[in-house]
This record gives sequence, structure tokens and C-alpha cells, in this order.
Amino acid sequence: MAEPVISVSSLRTSFRRKGAWLPVVHDVTFDVAAGETVALVGESGSGKSVTAMSMMRLYASDTCRIEGEVKLEGEDLLKLSERRMRDIRGNRIAMIFQEPMTSLNPSLTIGDQISEVLVAHRGLSFTEAARETFGLMEKVRIPSSANRMKEYPHQLSGGMRQRIMIAMALACRPKLLIADEPTTALDVTIQAQILELIKLLQEEEGMGVLFITHDMGVVAEVADRTIVMYKGDAIERGRTEEIFASPQRAYTRALLSAVP
Ligand code: ADP
Ligand code: MG
Repeated sequence: MAEPVISVSSLRTSFRRKGAWLPVVHDVTFDVAAGETVALVGESGSGKSVTAMSMMRLYASDTCRIEGEVKLEGEDLLKLSERRMRDIRGNRIAMIFQEPMTSLNPSLTIGDQISEVLVAHRGLSFTEAARETFGLMEKVRIPSSANRMKEYPHQLSGGMRQRIMIAMALACRPKLLIADEPTTALDVTIQAQILELIKLLQEEEGMGVLFITHDMGVVAEVADRTIVMYKGDAIERGRTEEIFASPQRAYTRALLSAVP
């Protein structure tokens, strides 16, 4: 078994509500190894996104309290300064979301947005960045990349926009990719293509992937291991085949019964 890229222990996230701290993620522990995909699955509101956002420390510290450990290659992210954390977000962990449109700049071409990431996070010159941008677009299988580079986000379909988000994530050469419901807003056929792409890239790049979804069908497609979340707790975990073959918890069986 490879060393974990990320190792989350006893993660607990509480939000301030009416002067008190209300926990929404209680005690979540898991790790993800290089080259491995771990799924975090559970119904809407079970705490999957809060877990991911807490790992990235994306909440304001005056309204959110995060306890436990989030070790990236041995270093506890919860102990780092905000400045160091910004470097980590840009370079070692990348995150993609359900709706790519909200993370893309509507007034910049696709090519410029990818180049901007390369200049900002990898320190490339604009010329180098333009060349590598083309390479990244090919890598995420965008047809006629040279023309597409000059287009704006609204000119692309949802599936193409998600490919662009994946290209931007890969631009940082992350050790860990957190994908939070990246295919939920897409049509079923496009969804399958994006899942296929993520699997392929993971094999090529060897990064760890934390794949968040409410859909056990998607879990079956992508995940080596699966963690089932329910009301802010990880209630079941194991190799994906084992969870499908012999789920231990009634809740997991209910999730599985929704798979066609
Ligand atoms: P999901 O599993 O669907 O991703 P979330 O992690 O988004 O669920 O939400 C888990 C719980 O935390 C929900 O009850 C939600 O209302 C609550 N929650 C999420 N974000 C915040 C926030 N910023 N402030 C307060 N409560 C939140
Ligand atoms: Mg969510």
C-alpha cells in the first residue's frame, strides 16, 4: 500500500449559530493514497462538502471551527498559516465542483484562464504558459483545442466546461484532487465521459482523488475504497466491491437500493 497523500483524523467541523458552536461533521477519519480514488458518499446534507471545504480550510475562522488533523504528506494543514495554506490550495491540492460556470471567469477566454493558473502557480512565462495550455487541453480531450482556447466559458457545454476545470486543476500538478459532485449537473452520457477522463488522468498523473458524490452508481464506476457518510459521521468504510457485496449498515443498503 502506497503512503497516504492525505490523512484526515477525527475531523470535526462546527459552525457558529446564535452564539454557540454547532457541529455538522462530528468525527471523520480516512486517508487517500497516491493513485487511489476514495469516494465519500451519502445523501444531501450528510457533511461531504463540509468535510472537503474543511480539509482545504475554505471557511472563515470566525464562523467555523475545525478540529482534528488533516495531514498532507505528513504536514498538518490545520496548523499552517493562512499564507502557507494559500500555496497548498494552489499547488498541492486542487478542487473541482458541481457547477464549473461559477468558478470560471466569464470575461476571459478559456486559454487565458488556464494560462493564468500556469503563470500564477507554476511561474511559467506567458509564452511557455500558452504552449502548456494547449497541451493541457489536449490532455483533457478537448477537440480542436487550438480554436477552443479562444472561446469564452458561455460558448462551451457543461461537459466541456468541466473538462476545462479539470485542466485547470491539473495545471497545478496536484498530489490530491478533490472532486465534489463533478458530474451531478451533467447528462448521463457526458457524466460517463467525465468519469472516464478522471480515471484516465489519475492513472497518467498518479495523484490521489477524493471523489464526493451522492450516487452509488458513480461510486461503483470510480472508487477503490468508499466511505459512507450519514449525518456528519463516517458510518461505513471499505473496499468498494466489499461495500457493494456486503453492506453492513441499513443506511448503506438503502443507498445501494437506489442504484438501477
Ligand atoms: P453534503 O453532504 O450535501 O455536501 P454539506 O456538507 O454541504 O452536505 O452540509 C452538511 C450540513 O452542514 C448541512 O446540514 C448544512 O446545512 C450544514 N452547512 C453547510 N455549510 C454550512 C455553513 N457554511 N454554515 C452553517 N452550516 C452549514
Ligand atoms: Mg455537497
